Amino acid sequence: MGSTLISNGTVVNADSAIRADVLVRDGRIVALGIGSDWTADHVIDATGKLVIPGGIDAHTHLEYPIDGFTTRTADDFHTGTVAAAHGGTTTILDFVKKEPGRSLYDTYLRRRDAAARRSVVDFGLHAIVPPRDQQPDVLDDLRRLADEGAASWKFFMAYPGTQMVDDGELLAGFELARELGVLPMVHAENGHMVARETQRLIDSGRTAEHFHATAHGHDAEAEAVHRAIVLAESVGAPLYVVHVSSAAAAEEISRARADGRRVWAETCPQYLQVAYEDYAGLGERAAAYLCSPPIRERSNQEGLWKALVTGALATVATDHAGFCMHQPDDLPPQKLRSPGYFPKVPNGVPGIEDRLMVLWEGGVASGRIDPCRFVDLVSTRPAKLFGLFPRKGIVAVGADADLVVWDPRADHVITTAGTHMRTDYNLYDGMRVTGKPVHVLSRGDHLVDASGSFDGAAGRGAFAERGTPHLF
Ligand SMILES: [Zn+2]
Repeated sequence: MGSTLISNGTVVNADSAIRADVLVRDGRIVALGIGSDWTADHVIDATGKLVIPGGIDAHTHLEYPIDGFTTRTADDFHTGTVAAAHGGTTTILDFVKKEPGRSLYDTYLRRRDAAARRSVVDFGLHAIVPPRDQQPDVLDDLRRLADEGAASWKFFMAYPGTQMVDDGELLAGFELARELGVLPMVHAENGHMVARETQRLIDSGRTAEHFHATAHGHDAEAEAVHRAIVLAESVGAPLYVVHVSSAAAAEEISRARADGRRVWAETCPQYLQVAYEDYAGLGERAAAYLCSPPIRERSNQEGLWKALVTGALATVATDHAGFCMHQPDDLPPQKLRSPGYFPKVPNGVPGIEDRLMVLWEGGVASGRIDPCRFVDLVSTRPAKLFGLFPRKGIVAVGADADLVVWDPRADHVITTAGTHMRTDYNLYDGMRVTGKPVHVLSRGDHLVDASGSFDGAAGRGAFAERGTPHLF
């Protein structure tokens, strides 16, 4: 494995930015210092560049079954993590959804195995808690899973009849999570409100793709966020809200945090950078933009940015769930399986490779946040919340050498052809960005170099051990 010296860069952590050399040996950071005379097998000159902890994407869906297991996302653990690495992300946290005829626990072990065989960066898994009628003894499985490294569980407040759990199940699950030191997560949309609105749109013939956003209203999201916060508080549990898309929902979180509630929330680049107006007129091609909760009106974006600046939103993850617009032979039905009928369009958008560049551009380059806050949003805070800190999420002696040399003055245009995701389109195609990763190291291995060449074998990624969440 040998040693690597990253010299003359500015080391940016969530709480500081200092000029320092970084010495890496055997996969760990072994020294940080100014004007060192260290030698190493391999030297990376980071003059004029930033050295930041590798990105942690706490929300991905690779080779992920959806819609009653009738289709799956396009990227597998190999293509998805190659793309992640190119974008400066060195750890992903994906999800386990119980397979029909298999327990959640058994599904989890199988999926952990699959990820270990194909992933090129480190990974962890959140367990999705199925409704009790799908597995009556699921709480027993969750206890065992907490011992197997599933330190976070996700509950769906949406999708009645398939994944939605009721308030009683939320309370029981949150209470067990509190007892075991697990962080409960919610997909917060009121499933009944979305289902009713969807039916109303179908009944009136409004099934074109863009009506998806009408079906998933701001109120349905804000109501579920509010309810989840109240339920978690009632049993003394902390709470993490995934993919907040509505400024009204962010406002609920802001209020709760001001009241001292232990709630953290995530948003995604697509909600900050892309808008309903970008796809409302595209007809069937609007399928490319459909995800849940939906990409909302441009007027909604500023409220999300404000929540990122104030801290009401704590992390930026991708919810990467990429599907192709053209149908490849080796994949089940993709985005255009039901043109003109939004209820059957596979939900999800790609972004695992774009996350850091898009957030840098809209956040740092535009002057809204500084580089330290950027690092906190994309790496340090997710590391803390999901029990990876201080092994990951920080450039410090003893931490894993998951490092990104970041060029803050790049002149780069994001294109579909220039990225590595399996999907055949990119939401940010044509976007000009001024920050990008030029070197990416994962546990000391130099995966991506300045020329963009890649060196990382499928299966080198490891299951990331997770400790107790840092909830402060
Ligand atoms: Zn998701």
